[in-house]
Amino acid sequence: MMPLYPLYINGRFIETSERQNVLNPSTGKVIAQACLAKDSDVDLAIASAREAFDKGSWPKLPLDERKKFIFKIAQGILNKAGDLAKLETENAGKPIKETTFMDVPSAAKAFEYVANNFESYLVSENLNISEEAKAKLSREPMGVVVLIIPWNYPLLIASWKLASALAAGNTVVLKPSSLTSLTAFELGKIIHQAGLPAGVVNIVNASGTKIGEKLCSDKRVDMVSFTGSNEVGKHILEYSSKNVKKLIMELGGKSASLIFSDVDIDMVVNSSLCSIFLNQGQMCTAMSRIFVQDSLYNKFVANFVEKAQRIKLGVASNHETQMGPLITDSQRKKVIVYLEKAKAEGAKILCGGKIPQAPELKNGYFFEPTVITGVNPHMHIFKEEVFGPVAIVGKFSSAEEAVELANDSDFALASCIWSRDLSLAEGLAKRINAGTIWINTYGMFYNRAPYGGFKQSGFGKELGKEGFLEYTRLKNVVLDQSPDAKPLVNYWYGF
Ligand code: NAD
Repeated sequence: MMPLYPLYINGRFIETSERQNVLNPSTGKVIAQACLAKDSDVDLAIASAREAFDKGSWPKLPLDERKKFIFKIAQGILNKAGDLAKLETENAGKPIKETTFMDVPSAAKAFEYVANNFESYLVSENLNISEEAKAKLSREPMGVVVLIIPWNYPLLIASWKLASALAAGNTVVLKPSSLTSLTAFELGKIIHQAGLPAGVVNIVNASGTKIGEKLCSDKRVDMVSFTGSNEVGKHILEYSSKNVKKLIMELGGKSASLIFSDVDIDMVVNSSLCSIFLNQGQMCTAMSRIFVQDSLYNKFVANFVEKAQRIKLGVASNHETQMGPLITDSQRKKVIVYLEKAKAEGAKILCGGKIPQAPELKNGYFFEPTVITGVNPHMHIFKEEVFGPVAIVGKFSSAEEAVELANDSDFALASCIWSRDLSLAEGLAKRINAGTIWINTYGMFYNRAPYGGFKQSGFGKELGKEGFLEYTRLKNVVLDQSPDAKPLVNYWYGF
């Protein structure tokens, strides 16, 4: 029997009549059916979250009580770690090695980290303004928060957002990508088993174009935390402007990796492969623009291309697989169109650029790891996010030129600098327009370190104290103890 995933609203699992086939991108086969939400389900989910916030116990729970629930969710993820990794792999096409060692344990750790630390982030502050006047600054939950998740890290990004939103005392409506809703629904079961009150977490599934506007414009929603493309982010800005909401926008990127010639060639080639080809290049922080100092350029390109060709493509559930399929056939077509445009504009494909022909891959949405050169800043592929296994490699001769190339982008999400000269690297980090800069490493996300982009990559932070505080609002309570009662206001009209 095909597994069926119901919606989760007001503490109940709700089967709707409209359903969607959920595909395994490695095989193109249907692996489950997911219920689809109509407007009335979205309405109910928002109403439940509102009711649970306004009248329920969750926002008022003592912090150590809330903390126990957050730990229970972390433990629930760990208890089901193997099954969750398998499901994420089947649904999102992420190689099983990635889901087993990265996505699932990191999701549990996100809850653990927040549970261990959020109380210290919620301490109020007293300001002694004058002898008479005092102000107390305190943090409150935002209220009802809508969380919108992309398909590239479905469980992990849902966990980042949920951990902070819930610990801060909010109630939520979670909308996973309809392509990859399964681990979000499993997380719903874990949350249900952890015993959170009904209505604190609601999960609705449908295409964003169907339910996005309702979710993001409804008056009863106080905040929207969105991770996804720049294009959809702009729609959400528009919807949410109707009733003015707090927003977090974690959008796309076109990140640059700057490689100086003093680095170890094997280390930098291996790390660069990881920085663009992990998760088939479907990473917001993918280093899709790699710039190498001219004296190392030829050696780097030869080595990089040779190793890119050795990356083992395969069905994502196979433990030997190093690169799985893209999420959908249409995502793969988008990548192909970018490559065709790049070729027409004069770029050169050094390897990859094709759909692999191995019989075991023919039904999945696989695409070869691709390396291209001869790209200039006017080309589409230099400027736009491809979101696939495509690296462009260029060169620079001076640090000045390297910074110019890195900053020649509308996005500003992340960047890498590779050099043994740490004072050079730290100096450049100050000048590169990006929210996160990795020096001599890539992709290190720490729960304590806030993460988020600038410019077209969005605003707001995830993770760390700053990421947690996004889900709170700051209240200022002023107390005047002057004996003749507030000189300024009391005597203003001279009565
Ligand atoms: P997407 O923008 O297409 O979809 C993201 C989510 O928005 C999905 O749940 C989708 O259903 C929903 N959505 C779509 N249309 C909507 C609408 N009109 N209103 C409301 N919601 C709507 O993104 P994607 O294709 O799922 O993910 C890839 C994108 O996400 C890339 O651009 C990537 O860079 C970005 N991303 C950014 C980060 C980050 O932290 N900055 C992390 C991961 C992914």
